[in-house]
Amino acid sequence: MNSYMNQYKEPAPILDKENPFESMMERFEIAVKIIGLDQGLYNYLKAPVKQVITSIPITMDNGSLEVFEGYRVIHNEVLGPSKGGIRFAPDISLDEMKALAAWMTWKCAIVNIPFGGAKGGIKCDPSLLSNGELERLTRRFTSNLLDVFGPDRDIPAPDMNTNEQTMAWIMDTYSMHSKRTETAVVTGKPLLLGGSLGRKEATGRGVTSVIIGAFHKLGINPNNASAVIQGFGNVGSVTALALFEHGVKIVGLSDINGAIYNSNGFNIPELIEHVERHKTLIDYQNAEPITNEELLELQCDVLVPAAKEDQITFKNASKLKCKIIAEGANGPTTAKADPVLQSMGILVIPDILANAGGVTVSYFEWVQDRMGYFWTLDRVNRRLDRMMHAAFVNVYKSAEKYNVSLRIGAYIIAIEKVAQTLKLRGIYA
Ligand code: NAD
Repeated sequence: MNSYMNQYKEPAPILDKENPFESMMERFEIAVKIIGLDQGLYNYLKAPVKQVITSIPITMDNGSLEVFEGYRVIHNEVLGPSKGGIRFAPDISLDEMKALAAWMTWKCAIVNIPFGGAKGGIKCDPSLLSNGELERLTRRFTSNLLDVFGPDRDIPAPDMNTNEQTMAWIMDTYSMHSKRTETAVVTGKPLLLGGSLGRKEATGRGVTSVIIGAFHKLGINPNNASAVIQGFGNVGSVTALALFEHGVKIVGLSDINGAIYNSNGFNIPELIEHVERHKTLIDYQNAEPITNEELLELQCDVLVPAAKEDQITFKNASKLKCKIIAEGANGPTTAKADPVLQSMGILVIPDILANAGGVTVSYFEWVQDRMGYFWTLDRVNRRLDRMMHAAFVNVYKSAEKYNVSLRIGAYIIAIEKVAQTLKLRGIYA
């Protein structure tokens, strides 16, 4: 046994019945029934078009040979090349990849970008791997998938435990084989390699755009509005800052260490500096410590879950006191909580719309790479804002038309768009 295998522990199986992927499928089924999708199209949209499982042998630093398992699932490519992240984690499975790939198809269709959906990853514990091992793993994975990836075929992006450096390795490996620099084969790259300005902040800025759209619909003036944000990482902190800049009072915040409250509102730029220095917001002055449960139940205009899945459940949904929920995280609300929130009149801006700013600026990055012409930050932000706003208005109209929640309205738009495009293209035989 070598050192990696000695340290590696098989993760415990996930027993939670309301996992976000099952929740996603439940909502898909509801939308399909409402629009009366025909059985053939239903079968087509449910199944991924391609599923690859690949064996990745690498030489470890100690000279031993280790073999990892990698996956890439392409759910759909009717609208264009498939798009989706690559994650490195010990508990990933083909089933999870299939669900996440479908999620990407719907997300891209909702924000109206010409991409299909994909997801992939390598089953490994990255905390046990050296930088060199991670590089060899990424490069061999890429080389195994050379006939899958491509700027016109399938375009990876960073996801859990992967980053700009991972994308740089994929881009370089792909480029070495095609004998030319192909920056558009991945997004989420470093700026020096053709990344886009504004990509890191895109998800939080997109969340803010749809919140402002919802305020407008409900007649809420941002200057009189209050917000509570769960999670102060990339999505949570950017959303907090952007809302603060719109005049919204942020009264509650949290990170993994706990939650804080201030009825007068936090000074977000000061708080961000504090977190940069102390790595947590917990010991920030002028803040009352509260529990995570109390945070979610605070009175506010908008609650932004931006930490992790399954936070708003059947158990706590009836205790919420917000007017709007904007899902920065993926799958923060369980399917069983949906009808409770709807009966309470809470407007839920669903994840597949609210956090689609990230994939929208990934699309901008791909466009810029292909043009070889790079936009200013201001241009990226204005175009992002415009696309998020248009998507919000469309989803709102769809929800009104079918008398359903924004979530089901969003699924209906996505499914109808992909189904209609497929009908126009026809089935090649
Ligand atoms: P991140 O790792 O930067 O931040 C996560 C934050 O949540 C941290 O502040 C962490 O301390 C906090 N947190 C973790 N567990 C918590 C708990 N139990 N209670 C309270 N806070 C907790 O991650 P991120 O990139 O901001 O992503 C957050 C969510 O948004 C995830 O669901 C992710 O899938 C989703 N998302 C992110 C992006 C993106 O572009 N980063 C795009 C789409 C969706």
